[in-house]
Amino acid sequence: MDYEFSKSHQAWLQACRVLPGGVNSPVRAFGGVDEKPIVIASGKGSRLFDIDGNEYIDYVGSWGPLILGHADPRILAAIHSAAEKGTTFGAPTQAETALAERILQAIPSIQKIRMVSSGTEAVMTAIRLARAHTGRDYIIKMIGCYHGHSDCLLVAAGSGLAEHSTPSSAGVPRAFSEKTIVVPYNDVPAIEQAFEDHHGRVAGVILEPVAANMGVVLPDAGYLKSIRSLCDYHNTVLIFDEVITGFRIAYGGAQQIYGITPDLTCLGKIIGGGLPAAAVGGKATVMDLLSPLGPVYQAGTLSGNPLAMAAAIATLDILREKGTYQILDENGKHLADGIRDAAQKARIPVTINRIGSILSVFFTDRSIHNFADVQSTNIGLFKRMFSGLIRKGIYIAPSAYEAMFVSLAHTRQDIEKTVEIVYGVLDAIRR
Ligand code: PMP
Repeated sequence: MDYEFSKSHQAWLQACRVLPGGVNSPVRAFGGVDEKPIVIASGKGSRLFDIDGNEYIDYVGSWGPLILGHADPRILAAIHSAAEKGTTFGAPTQAETALAERILQAIPSIQKIRMVSSGTEAVMTAIRLARAHTGRDYIIKMIGCYHGHSDCLLVAAGSGLAEHSTPSSAGVPRAFSEKTIVVPYNDVPAIEQAFEDHHGRVAGVILEPVAANMGVVLPDAGYLKSIRSLCDYHNTVLIFDEVITGFRIAYGGAQQIYGITPDLTCLGKIIGGGLPAAAVGGKATVMDLLSPLGPVYQAGTLSGNPLAMAAAIATLDILREKGTYQILDENGKHLADGIRDAAQKARIPVTINRIGSILSVFFTDRSIHNFADVQSTNIGLFKRMFSGLIRKGIYIAPSAYEAMFVSLAHTRQDIEKTVEIVYGVLDAIRR
């Protein structure tokens, strides 16, 4: 029996009267899949429950933070015990230092770190630091990478913007976006050309070392190394946006896997343990430009929030246990292999990009290296798959331009059940 969503739809209509589009973040509105959003009641482990009482196996995980699954008792206990001591002070706590020390240990390129409340803020600060450090204005970003919603980065961005009616956003003065140079992902000559065209004026290069906001797109062999060399040659700050990949694809993030050292790293999602926290960190010489030591202003009332710090510390302490990333990788592989087989059995061409516990299913027989490749896939088929899956209890991101997130809470049975349902849905579509 297919799920029924009448309570969700009613609640969403009610929300639409008070929230623009009925949501607080665009992609939640399901505009990318021609459906109406489901309204969530609760989550536990790998499962999500909506207000109609439908149960889903969840592969969104709040878009990445929930690497342990929903409502993990160890994280809840950490939050609870922190909350009993007070929820926010706007003053230093030892928990901030304890989390910072763990992150520095995990990611050696980070010598100093500042906690903020969202990935957007982390990236905004990284850009400001790069500009202050170099005394230059231009930023190079890759088409299809998403770095949050600060003005200068709303240019050719992925994620929710991949399906936005305009390529960027209204309300951004041209003067702001003019300083952002966009080039395709995995295209070294294009970056070389950008450096040449703006010789001596490029403050920073920012990218997701593994792109995950146009679906998962891996860096081609040598790509990150070439960017590192170009940044060295031009004295330009290299910023890795590891908001998704940090503590996700390895404990030390993408930079650990690919062996490339950025100057600055942006973190978010997992380092909030499911609460709002993010961070920017990197070379001490750059980080010490931040106020109060240096001239770069940055601040936040709730930065280093004690509940978020407690949740994050508990999360990292679980993640750094031996074997964790092997389990995550096996879960990811099992799901990817299963979906590939299911598509083959249903005689639908598919390409699956995966690294560890993030993956994307692209309906195409080509390999996918950049945003244009993603746009050339069968998005209509993705939408139909989504509609089929959500009615059978599988919750994936409501957009062809996003990743699937597998957690430690997903069991073999969860994944096998998912694959079976995927096959049923794809087979029905082909018929
Ligand atoms: N960078 C990347 C790579 C992201 O995926 C995101 C959010 N999905 C952001 C930055 C922005 O983070 P936030 O939504 O916390 O502002």
